[in-house]
Amino acid sequence: MIVGIDLGTTHSAIGVVDSGFPILLADEEGKRIMPSVVWFGADGAVEVGRKAQRRRATDPMRVISSVKRWMGQDIVLENVGKSPEQVSAEILKELKRIAEWRIGAEVSKAVITVPAYFNDAQRAATKRAGELAGLEVARIINEPTAAALAYGLDKLKDKARVAVYDLGGGTFDLTILEMEEGVFQVLATHGDTRLGGDDVDAMIRDMLLDAAGDVPEEIRWRFLEEAEKAKRALSTELSYTIRIPFYDGSSSLEKTITRTDLDKMTKGWITRSLKCCQQAMHDSGLLLAELDAVVLVGGSTRMPAVREAVADFFQREVDVTQHPDEAIALGATIQAGVMSGAMRKMVLLDVTPLSLGIETFGGLMNVLIPRNTTIPCKAGEMFTNAADSQEKMAIRVLQGEREMARDNWELGKFEVMMEKLPKGQARVGVQFRIDADGILEVLARDTKTGKDTAINIASSAVNVDDAAVEEMVGASVEHAFEDMSERIFTEAKLKADELLPAVEMIMAQGFVEEHEREEIEAAVKDVKATMASAAANALKAAVQRLDSATEAAAARLVEKAMEEALERELGL
Ligand code: ADP
Ligand code: MG
Repeated sequence: MIVGIDLGTTHSAIGVVDSGFPILLADEEGKRIMPSVVWFGADGAVEVGRKAQRRRATDPMRVISSVKRWMGQDIVLENVGKSPEQVSAEILKELKRIAEWRIGAEVSKAVITVPAYFNDAQRAATKRAGELAGLEVARIINEPTAAALAYGLDKLKDKARVAVYDLGGGTFDLTILEMEEGVFQVLATHGDTRLGGDDVDAMIRDMLLDAAGDVPEEIRWRFLEEAEKAKRALSTELSYTIRIPFYDGSSSLEKTITRTDLDKMTKGWITRSLKCCQQAMHDSGLLLAELDAVVLVGGSTRMPAVREAVADFFQREVDVTQHPDEAIALGATIQAGVMSGAMRKMVLLDVTPLSLGIETFGGLMNVLIPRNTTIPCKAGEMFTNAADSQEKMAIRVLQGEREMARDNWELGKFEVMMEKLPKGQARVGVQFRIDADGILEVLARDTKTGKDTAINIASSAVNVDDAAVEEMVGASVEHAFEDMSERIFTEAKLKADELLPAVEMIMAQGFVEEHEREEIEAAVKDVKATMASAAANALKAAVQRLDSATEAAAARLVEKAMEEALERELGL
């Protein structure tokens, strides 16, 4: 089992894939998001999250927040004497504890997210923090990548470009990603490590302090807490009344603030984020119209004014279908699930669980669409007639991982009529197409007549019972050796069947020179002898020997044929 962790500047969260679905794990208070705050008591005690936040009232000097800002720096934090990694490790330990308590099993591996702009030192420090917390860090992934995974943008289309606007508590960044076949590339990232929701809290607090007059330093944190509460409320309400009773023992404060007040207050703050967007777009060299999606993450994007401004800037609707403060942890969890195999069930819905192909000469499986191909998809190949004057060709549609057609499952069968031609001259194109609903369409076309024959095979191409898939894959592994040697033998035998009469003809028509004869005769004997045994590699070698022994003679035959053709043409 691998867990996914968003180790955020102001908030962190942990998740796991359960029965194929990624879920975030809530603590004892039912909260899925934990403040990234740690209190180090003078006596060595440690508290994390909301508990640590409450220590602000009594022991503010020993409460550490926003430690992520210091990651990768070789420093020791004043008052508590801890390195940034040690503080982060405490946050990770607490998340690990919550997960273990929820799951009822030990957690030892994690995927952890970091901002796209984190350098190697910052990433390495994050990894070390994980190790200090007793977690093996299976992978460090970029936060915008995790966000894109949570929004399912990796499945948008073959190649998608998305902008991830992440406005958290203390930092902002805009990242432009390009995703192709599951590979995520950062095209550009720009941000401001001093821009976030904390600024808004401070603006509201200052307004309250102005209204209250002289407020002693040590109780100002209460004003900040109430300010944040008001800000959050105004994301859904149009007006909110802040009440701080007896903050200094005797005076109380009551102040109503409206959404409009807040919008005015935060206008410049939002514009600062848009400037970064502009810079990132410029760096990426893309036009706005070239983006396939814009998603919002970070708790501060719950603010309606932010959503509107971003939609305005990007000239499109922004995707807000995920909880913005949970998206990154959710994406990390998806990545963890994919790595541990727990997400397999879901991933399988969008890929072919088994290979698809048709039977060809000698009873071989010819794969057109390999296993694990993302759907929708399309593939085709040309086939020819095995015998002279063949009237029709049977197309057997097969599914499975085995080399021989008979060991795979038959999904359907049909015949294509073709023009009668000498062996090897007909051309029949076979195309497989699987649409987004998993319907397989098989189309066969005789290129000479242009006539199409098509069949549809519903659902079975993609909807295969997990157990059956496992059995098929297991059998292909188990029989890999025999299967492979049967394929090699069959292919070599097909080649030998073609080569032997041709060699006879070349010899009869005098294309072979005397010094070549002995080797050719020996090679023919070798081929016939090994064909009678079932030794695959020996037959393959014998066929190769015959092929090279007759190479010069075959070239002479071709040369002669060309000369004759040329003479005919000149004679005309
Ligand atoms: P980070 O990634 O920086 O750790 P988050 O993505 O969790 O942070 O965002 C935290 C910020 O989001 C805080 O400033 C918090 O006040 C703000 N926030 C959370 N919920 C809301 C809300 N409903 N309305 C406005 N701001 C919110
Ligand atoms: Mg964040």
